Amino acid sequence: MAGAVMQSPIQLEQNEAENIERIRELKRARGDSLIILAHHYQRLGVHRCGDVTGDSYQLCKAAASTQKARHIVFCGVRFMVTSAATLCRDDQVVYHPDRNAGCPMADMANLPQVTTSWLELSQVVQASRVVPVVYMNSDLDLKAFCGERGGIVCTSSNASKVFDWCFARGEKIFFFPDEHLGRNTANAKGIPRSQIVLWDPKQPFGGLSPQQIRDARVILWKGYCHVHTRFSLEMIAKARAEHPGIKVVVHPECHEDVVAAADFSGSTGFIQDYVRKQMKAGDKVAIGTEVNMIHRLAVEHPDRLVIPLVRSLCPNMFKISTQDLRDCLENLDSWEAVKADPREKQHAKVALDNMLACTG
Ligand code: SF4
Repeated sequence: MAGAVMQSPIQLEQNEAENIERIRELKRARGDSLIILAHHYQRLGVHRCGDVTGDSYQLCKAAASTQKARHIVFCGVRFMVTSAATLCRDDQVVYHPDRNAGCPMADMANLPQVTTSWLELSQVVQASRVVPVVYMNSDLDLKAFCGERGGIVCTSSNASKVFDWCFARGEKIFFFPDEHLGRNTANAKGIPRSQIVLWDPKQPFGGLSPQQIRDARVILWKGYCHVHTRFSLEMIAKARAEHPGIKVVVHPECHEDVVAAADFSGSTGFIQDYVRKQMKAGDKVAIGTEVNMIHRLAVEHPDRLVIPLVRSLCPNMFKISTQDLRDCLENLDSWEAVKADPREKQHAKVALDNMLACTG
């Protein structure tokens, strides 16, 4: 099977080539004053138009460090775009080609819930002993909540370093909104299961007893990504039965049993590097992450077998088409800019800067 290109579940957009040509023309006209950032889960055509492509950490760094660009067009979901708007300079403007592209996982934690949970925690343990960690996949007000309380942002590529940073400053981590990234990171750190607890925001005190809270080192919010929790042990067994010798690589937003059964687990940047740098012609890999990225890697590497464990698509990442990007660039001067609330920006920047400083 090596050499076969995975059949795309995704139809090429109409006028794709024409749109890409027009986008390149518009970029040339703007020169260095414009930069396009594109996440790895974006559609193939949109990804090809990115000046910088990467996972959310890489794009966050790119937004924070771009010098010449005054206009930053971000092809990703809302939480990424507001993070870029927080990190950029005051003379820079951030644009989102489709403001409706959100993230259901980010919506699983909101500020009133997190504030209530924090107050409840504080009734059982000293708040100064707890470090709040918010996954990049969250609204800006939650990043600000963390920044105000000496906390930090993390992504799937730096969660391990962020845990070290936290335990140098406190005894417990309060991690939201993705249970699975937090659990997989805690497992990799060798934290005993009895010290990892699940906080259900719909229940008083997260559904935990005071003793469970006191004993915990990692308190995980009950949230998840529907794209990554689809993957199962049965899918891994099937891939291995159908393709002897195949490797399995999954994202850490997957269930812990799936991560344990895989050969490797890592961020989208890690997965891309695995296919590009670790594999050679004839090698086989089944991947547990968003299908657009797997499709792109398969197209880029026709000499190796790159298949999904199952086709799991993020409808929000899929929202931006080359037509949307073209419309945004053609109307850039009147396109609505993404602006961060000044107070949220000030505090969220602290938590984002903590992450950038701790992970380099
Ligand atoms: S893949 Fe999951 S976490 Fe990422 S944007 Fe989609 S729903 Fe959110």
